Parts: sequence; C-alpha cells; structure tokens
Amino acid sequence: MSIAQLLVVEDEIAIRDMLVMALEQAGFGVQCAENAQQAQMLLDDMPPDLIVLDWMLPGLSGMEWAKRLRRDERYRAIPIILVTARGEEEDKVRGLETGADDYVTKPFSPRELVARAKAVLRRVGKPIGDARIMLGGILLDMEQHRVIIDNQPLPLSPTEYRMLEFFMTHPDKVYSRSQLLDQVWGRTTYIDERTVDVHIRRLRKTLADFARENLVQTVRGFGYRFSESA
Ligand code: CA
Repeated sequence: MSIAQLLVVEDEIAIRDMLVMALEQAGFGVQCAENAQQAQMLLDDMPPDLIVLDWMLPGLSGMEWAKRLRRDERYRAIPIILVTARGEEEDKVRGLETGADDYVTKPFSPRELVARAKAVLRRVGKPIGDARIMLGGILLDMEQHRVIIDNQPLPLSPTEYRMLEFFMTHPDKVYSRSQLLDQVWGRTTYIDERTVDVHIRRLRKTLADFARENLVQTVRGFGYRFSESA
C-alpha cells in the first residue's frame, strides 16, 4: 500500500512542526508550506492526497485558497481539513460550505488531527498508510471495521461500531445527543434522541467486559464524550 501524502499549510512554526511530526509518526508523507502561494507551488509540483489548511494565513487566507481549489478541476477532488481558531458555528458552516471535508478547532491534539485525517482519507477512498487508531487500549481498524481489545475482537452491532468509530476519531470533545444522531445515524433519519442513550448503554456494557466502560463518559446537561482522562 502506498503512503498517503499530506500537505500542511500553517504559518505558525510551532504548530506546523507539531503537525508534521505527528503526521509523520502516524505514517503519512508530509510536505509543508507557510502560506497559500508556497502551498500552490508544492501543489502544482505534486498534488497531495489531503490538505491540512489553516484558515488564518498571511496574504491569501486558507478559506480563500480553499475556494480557488474547489473551482480548479485539477485540484477539486483533493480533500481539505480546515484548521480554525474560531469555534463559532457560523464559521464551521462557512468552512464546510467552502468545500472543506472536515475541520478541527484550535487548540486540538495532534492525535485528534491524525484520526480525522485517516477518517477523511478513508471516506474519499484514498490510500492510507495505516487505517488503525489505538486509544485507551482499544484498537480500531477502520479498514476492516473491527475493534480489538486485549487481542480479542469486540462483538459490536453496526450502529455501535459507527458510534465507537466516531468517538475514537473525535476524542475528548463533548457531543450532544442530536449531534451524535447526525454523525452516527445520518441527518436524514428521524429517531428519538433517547435511542442514543440506549446505544450508549449497550456500548458501555460491551466495553465493561474489558473494564473500558469509563472511556464513554456522560457530561451532564450536554451529552457524551470519549476520553482517556476522567
Ligand atoms: Ca495562522
């Protein structure tokens, strides 16, 4: 399997270095640029499989550059993960409307970005170096749709698998029941939010056999979170 090539565009050196290191450790090939002009040159040279793009760049903003790429038939198909410092819902919507495939909000952990990059690449059917994520002693294999704990495959229903995959690719963040419905069941389904609780209970029960149920945490008044920290 070939290694997926990523292009990181970020003007802050500390963040750029952190991203390059984490992505290389995860088995990706990484090139980086500090602004859109530099990124464009690298792109013309060798189009990457995925672009990790900072929204706020000096000169042409990441947002504007993403728009240009989406109008360019040579680059239209390259998935983009937008990195934004602003967490407002309106910005996220604008970012996704621009044609970004996903976004992460600063501050984020390198592990979160690696997980999102793998998920986006898998979704668009691009080669990925390693479609596995290890978190909290749980191994998620997104290529084989399997979850393994202590060398044992976990007996999960398709819904519980999708829920765990979503949690493991979006760790440490709280999601409401309606967000989980959107992400795990899809926006077109109309089911009761209590269904989420039912599946959370089932998932916890399965994880409890391996003493891992504490990874799926209830955040009172908000929803649920998957995290290694209590
Ligand atoms: Ca920036």
